[in-house]
Amino acid sequence: MVSKELPFTQEKITEIITEHPTPFHLYDKKGILDNARELRKSFSRVHGFKEFFAVKALPNPYIMKILKKEGFGADCSSMAELLLAEKAGIVGEDIMFSSNDTPADEFIKARELGAIINLDDISHIEFLEKTAGLPELVCCRYNPGPLKEGNAIIGNPQEAKYGFTRDQLFEGYRMMKDKGVRRFGLHTMVASNELNPEYFVETARILFDLIVDLSRELDIHFEFVNLGGGIGIPYKPEQQPVSYEAITTGVRNAYDEIIRANDLHPLRIYLECGRVITGPYGYLITTVRHMKHIYKDYVGTDASMANLMRPGIYGAYHHITVLGKEKHKPTHMYDVTGSLCENNDKFAIDRKLPEIERGDVLVIHDTGAHGYAMGFNYNGKLRSAEILLNEDGSFVKIRRAETVDDYFATLDFEGLENF
Ligand SMILES: *Cc1c(COP(=O)(O)O)cnc(C)c1O
Repeated sequence: MVSKELPFTQEKITEIITEHPTPFHLYDKKGILDNARELRKSFSRVHGFKEFFAVKALPNPYIMKILKKEGFGADCSSMAELLLAEKAGIVGEDIMFSSNDTPADEFIKARELGAIINLDDISHIEFLEKTAGLPELVCCRYNPGPLKEGNAIIGNPQEAKYGFTRDQLFEGYRMMKDKGVRRFGLHTMVASNELNPEYFVETARILFDLIVDLSRELDIHFEFVNLGGGIGIPYKPEQQPVSYEAITTGVRNAYDEIIRANDLHPLRIYLECGRVITGPYGYLITTVRHMKHIYKDYVGTDASMANLMRPGIYGAYHHITVLGKEKHKPTHMYDVTGSLCENNDKFAIDRKLPEIERGDVLVIHDTGAHGYAMGFNYNGKLRSAEILLNEDGSFVKIRRAETVDDYFATLDFEGLENF
């Protein structure tokens, strides 16, 4: 069981709403910091640990800067994410550039920033060499194919578009060695929202074994292994958070048995998690606009899929608290919806909640990763503001809400008049 208790009071939310109307995402800085410190402390037991925060999970430079101060780097996968890292003061080998189907200008920008480039395909070795030049340090992404089972969000590795096959890794590293690359890393990312710590230990073992084989055959030295992201979070109250201790204990044992035993120490251990870093510390705050009673009972909110896609696209569970009614019994069954003209614009289906009235404020939990970030403008829906709640209870707007002018910014209305 995980507590879904809120880290703020109803009074605090009322105070924030008077300045910033709903809907908005609220991020709990204390929660983010406490977790970041716990992760770092736990992983200090594995050699040379570093976490590169997956920017796509929460692409806000204020959050990135908070994490940078905790020693985290940034995992970027697009031009915009590289630029955000730069703005947040994260440069050089504190950036892991893990992209796929990569355009030349992104390789050029990544090289300019001195980022660690993580190649997704063997053909990118030559492409990178021609477009941006080969750096001294290169990492390759491994797709284990049938060797490892994926999970629901990321799919089966054999069906996934990412990474090199095992044979391609041997060929690729050899090519790069011949071309003068001297520093090497190995990466994989095979799961998303995985709650079983053993999964990550098993991934580490597969990569460690592979590093033994690659190092022997090619006579190259690996500087780091990046175990990817994908550590899950307990979206449902009955789930358990992943024990960092369980991962680090398992990875340490595997390291001793495989890496040290084969004389390949030191090998640094990297992660590029997004969800587990910020996911549980974000809340979508939304006001109930209308109640509707037809064949089912609907709670219509002022938020929509534009603010949180996960329930609509994955059927994902997000816990909902009716603010001020935390102690009330869940006596009613509702669908909690947004106003978008798609029937999957629902935050919850058949959810038992206390009786809800117009004007109630709902707190939708665990929106701190892949929440705001996945938003879109379909149906002319605008993305919300993002507010950071500081440890002392003060709050700061770290992104304003979109306006209709933002939405129209790419249209030329003057041209339209003469059209
Ligand atoms: C999405 C992604 C991540 C982050 O995944 P989480 O589930 O948020 O930890 C890390 N690396 C790559 C390459 C990704 O695509």
